[in-house]
Parts: sequence; structure tokens; C-alpha cells
Amino acid sequence: MHAEVGWIEVICGPMFSGKSEELIRRLRRAQIARQRVQVFKPAIDDRYAETQIVSHSRAALDAQPVETSAELARMVRSDTRVVGIDEAQFFDDAIVEVVERLANQGMRVVLAGLDQDYTGAPFRCMPQLMAAAEYVTKTLAICTRCGAPAGRSQRLVPDGEQVLVGAVEAYEARCRHCHSPRAEATTRALFGESS
Ligand code: ADP
Ligand code: ZN
Repeated sequence: MHAEVGWIEVICGPMFSGKSEELIRRLRRAQIARQRVQVFKPAIDDRYAETQIVSHSRAALDAQPVETSAELARMVRSDTRVVGIDEAQFFDDAIVEVVERLANQGMRVVLAGLDQDYTGAPFRCMPQLMAAAEYVTKTLAICTRCGAPAGRSQRLVPDGEQVLVGAVEAYEARCRHCHSPRAEATTRALFGESS
């Protein structure tokens, strides 16, 4: 029997880079191997389905929505072997301690989340999670402008305007050359660019 050694895996990158697909792939393999898996997502992210992780390519996996990292911690059963967490960037800062504790207890914790916000700045707790992790995978999308590897999410709706979480029309994958930290709709209005 394999010793119960825990660890943390972080899958990070921009929108459309395949983070959810990769998370679903890793968790499915664990389920197929009959490991006890629990999957969580922040309750604020209600794109497509409340109780599922759904990728932009429509892969789906059942998940329990939770409001806070404390609620997540309470819901993890002691016999769970693998904990999956999607949209990790939306959790409160205490998520870092929570996943450290789960890994210390012998669980494998796999998190997916945006490493940068649409301005290119580190996204809330993600740098801490990446530092705490044994494994960090950075996924990249394809730049919708030039086809280069894209590590950034371009916002297409003006700053200050409310955007629904997961509203795919509001963002596009961009490389560092084609990305602007300001919302592109504003740039277009200023410089008269056509879309
Ligand atoms: P993430 O969780 O990182 O937002 P998903 O796993 O939900 O990514 O979706 C990845 C899928 O998004 C890809 O397999 C592809 O079908 C689709 N996609 C849409 N736009 C792009 C893009 N610009 N580059 C790569 N994949 C894209
Ligand atoms: Zn580009």
C-alpha cells in the first residue's frame, strides 16, 4: 500500500488555456483508480452549472459549491484521498492554510486558477498557492490576435462595468505583445480600431 503522503498541485494560466480541462483530466484518472475524490468550486462562479466544473470545451465534472475556504475545510471527509478545487483565485486568503493542512494530513490537493487578473497583476491568493505547491503547471492559450502562446486574459468590456463571472464574450486570450491592461473596448474607442 502506498504511504499516505500528501502534496499540492497548482494548474494556472489565463482564461481558455485549458486549466479546467486539465483539472478534470487529473481528477477523472484518480476516480478511475478508485481513489476517493472530492471536488469543490467557489459558489460565486455559477457559469453553466451550479454543481459542476465545466470547461470551455464542455468537459464536465460534479463539484460541490462552497462559499468560503472554511466551509470547504468542513466538507472534506477524513477518508478523502484527492481534493480538487477549480477557480481557486476566487477563494479567500485562508485557502492557503486550508490546502496546506489537507496536504499535511496526507491528501493530494489539485487546484486550478487564474495566475493573473486582466491587467496582468498576480491574482489574489494564487502566488501563495503556487509557492506552497509541490507541482506548478502553467497552461497557455493561443493568442486570438497573432497565434503566439497566450499567458494573459484581455478584457473586452470597459473598466468599471460589471462582468458576469465566466462571461466568455468579455475576455479573450492574448500574448504579452497583444495584451493591454486596459479594457480593449476603451482602447478601440480611443484609437478608432476596428474589431
Ligand atoms: P480555462 O479553465 O483555462 O479557462 P478550459 O479548460 O475551460 O480553460 O477551456 C479550454 C478550451 O477553451 C480549449 O480546449 C478550447 O476548446 C477553448 N478555447 C477557446 N479559446 C481558446 C484560445 N484562444 N486558445 C486555446 N483554447 C481556446
Ligand atoms: Zn499576440
